[in-house]
Amino acid sequence: MQIIWISGSTSQIKRINITGLGLFKIAAVTCFAFILIGVGIHFFGFRIAVQFKPDLAREMGGVITLQEKEEIESAYRERLETLQSQLSKVSDQIGKLQTIKDRFTELATPVPIRSRLNDEGGKGGPHLPIQFNPKSKGSLIKDLDTSVDSGKSLVKAVERLEQNWDRQYRWLSQLPTGTPITGLTGLSSNYGPRVDPITKRLAQHPGIDFSAPPGTPILAAGSGTVMRAGNDYAYGLFVEIKHIDGFVTKYAHARKVYVQQGQAVTRGQMIAEVGTTGRTTGPHLHYEVRLNDSLINPIQALAGRYQAPTNQ
Ligand SMILES: [Zn+2]
Repeated sequence: MQIIWISGSTSQIKRINITGLGLFKIAAVTCFAFILIGVGIHFFGFRIAVQFKPDLAREMGGVITLQEKEEIESAYRERLETLQSQLSKVSDQIGKLQTIKDRFTELATPVPIRSRLNDEGGKGGPHLPIQFNPKSKGSLIKDLDTSVDSGKSLVKAVERLEQNWDRQYRWLSQLPTGTPITGLTGLSSNYGPRVDPITKRLAQHPGIDFSAPPGTPILAAGSGTVMRAGNDYAYGLFVEIKHIDGFVTKYAHARKVYVQQGQAVTRGQMIAEVGTTGRTTGPHLHYEVRLNDSLINPIQALAGRYQAPTNQ
């Protein structure tokens, strides 16, 4: 391409030849110039902005001062310490709940096997409380990580506690600590030596008698398995239930039995009805408890601190 122009009164003619390469060079130089101007404006503009409008400059440049950084960290640390202290309190409270629960378990455990609480009952749960180091001097991120780890430990400890308490509940429910009969029935004869109502001679009474109208529901005193359900000259229709820790309970003189040998029964389940079968002078439930094959006073199987009374 050629450009021709005529200048002045002399009408001098000037000619310029423009080639493709020449156009490219002009464009490249122009772009470079603009980039230089842009960088210059940015650099000097930023310096000027920092001097005259520092807040705006920091906001645009994403810059904070050391003091601001410390202030932000301090605000976060304050909140972290509050959180740590709250978690420590939760941990302490869970520890206290464990202590209260242990007292309840002890109260609900029959005296003869209370010594087994430490092993069978599953005391000695996870160590609580878990500390959350509220006054640590480490870096904020390190303290946050430590707190997260402690939080995870607390969750795991609570999960173990839950399993532990559930195991204790199942253990207690399998002990014959419940009442073997519904309603407010009278205790007509206690455990120990007494004058036999039929022979009129002094004899050992191996259980306790609850006088009750015929048909009164007889209940399993604890969960277990029916060891025997049969008929006997002395006991009449009877049921024997095997529980855990060597306990066996026997329910006699029933008029009707609802369970059979090998059947699993739960605490409070109706297993028979009061009757007058076997050696008896009237309708009542004869209730016996054996511990490791020895008869014990059924009162001893109940929870609490009873000293077993006798008929004497
Ligand atoms: Zn009896």
